[in-house]
Amino acid sequence: MRARPGKRPYAGLTDVGRVRAHNEDSVLLEPPLFAVADGLGGHEAGEIASGVAVAALLAAAPAHLDAKGLGRAVRAANRAVIKAAREGRGREGMGTTLTAAVVESTRIAVAHVGDSRAYLLHGDTLERITRDHSMVADMIRQGTLTEEQSRSHPNRSVITRALGTDPNMYADTFEVDAEPGDRLLLCSDGLTGMLTDEHIAEILGDYGDPDMAVRMLVDAANEAGGHDNISVIVVDIVGERAVGGPARSHRGWLAVLVWALAVAAVVGIAVWGTYRYASERAYLIAEDGVVVVYSGLPGEFAGVSLRWLAEETTITVGLLDPVTAGRLNQGIAVEDLDAANALVDQYRALAEARSGEADNAPGGP
Ligand code: MN
Repeated sequence: MRARPGKRPYAGLTDVGRVRAHNEDSVLLEPPLFAVADGLGGHEAGEIASGVAVAALLAAAPAHLDAKGLGRAVRAANRAVIKAAREGRGREGMGTTLTAAVVESTRIAVAHVGDSRAYLLHGDTLERITRDHSMVADMIRQGTLTEEQSRSHPNRSVITRALGTDPNMYADTFEVDAEPGDRLLLCSDGLTGMLTDEHIAEILGDYGDPDMAVRMLVDAANEAGGHDNISVIVVDIVGERAVGGPARSHRGWLAVLVWALAVAAVVGIAVWGTYRYASERAYLIAEDGVVVVYSGLPGEFAGVSLRWLAEETTITVGLLDPVTAGRLNQGIAVEDLDAANALVDQYRALAEARSGEADNAPGGP
């Protein structure tokens, strides 16, 4: 375990439950990107479908908060699942749900397909922010079924939209504003099929630590029967607190002065916040055929680049597998330099193993 200053404001957990033999869910914790996928297909195919989906999502996800871009990444993940089945990984007909979120400060972009959900906890209120693509959800919307009845309905797991079958599938996308102190929850139906929204809200309210919260949610779903795989991600919204505006009683030049100071403070805090955030982050990228580590963030912000060269490695990108090489060409954002260095070690070992293989190949030198 690497030492970390301060605690990360998010946690995720996936559990097989008490009935199923395999865990076909996948979770993705690559801040600012988070996702839950619930695979379908049996015989390990569901596991492959959800795994392929989150890997493809990560490779295609936009670097910044952009719901439409996130929706396009979900479509790319859909094509990846279809392609995998055609190539004999998993099997034809395998599929997966995918609920993805990008969190930047207090704004959240969501893209989703299927019945894995996103919720936002604000105070004691747990708001469901996605609409299930499922047969029972349609029946509830039509008024022919109640929420309670849907829990035991024989078709409760039939979903009306999933990744893996229709190349023209689209995702629901939207952005929401949260407030500092709110919590984002992403989860598979193994949680929501076992616990009511009220019960989920209670647990989220009782456990402030995200690691504890995901643990207690999974435990509660298992205690309730654990009929399905259970996946849970909790992200605490910590974004900078809004600075209060000037009092309305100020008039004339004083009001102007106060406004100017307030604006300067807001801009200053935003710049400082972004700078601080950027300076703690790191990313790896392919440059001139080798892996290079930067601290900061890829791209530009208001015309300013927030990155500082940390290390130019001797790892040849061409020696890595094509998926990793592709991701490196785009840049792989990680939490901090420790995480970047861990990845560098991993890639160095991979590259060394692969160059070793090439040297020992039959007919080679
Ligand atoms: Mn499920």
